[in-house]
Amino acid sequence: MKYPGGCYCGQVRYEVDLQSPDEARTSICHCTSCKRFFGTGFGLTTKVPKDAFRVAKGTPKEHVSDNGSTSLHREFCGVCGTGILEYGEEAAQKSRYIMTGTFDQPGTFPPKGEFFCKDRERWMPEIPNVFHKQEIQE
Ligand SMILES: [Zn+2]
Ligand SMILES: [Zn+2]
Repeated sequence: MKYPGGCYCGQVRYEVDLQSPDEARTSICHCTSCKRFFGTGFGLTTKVPKDAFRVAKGTPKEHVSDNGSTSLHREFCGVCGTGILEYGEEAAQKSRYIMTGTFDQPGTFPPKGEFFCKDRERWMPEIPNVFHKQEIQE
């Protein structure tokens, strides 16, 4: 199945090719870096195998930041600023984390878990029946 998506202005389009939506893992992240990049109270990304993702139109811009233990790559539309995907250096050969809201049908990939719950905003309730981690691994 092909799951297309793209940015707000339409200059960047992509396609994710999966056997089934179960191959993807959507998660919420409450960390401060996600809050700032997404400009909201949390980040929402869908992890897919690197080779399942391909850009169909345009060229996303890339920003690389030093995340302390690793470098964090974020790709976005250089025209409208929509975040398209991110990945840490250690996942570079394996996975892409797509900004879930950029899929044409984001509801196809409901969240399976929450990360950095220690930084959850007080007004943000827990998502029921998904995993909850205080940081990334514990
Ligand atoms: Zn755009
Ligand atoms: Zn985060």
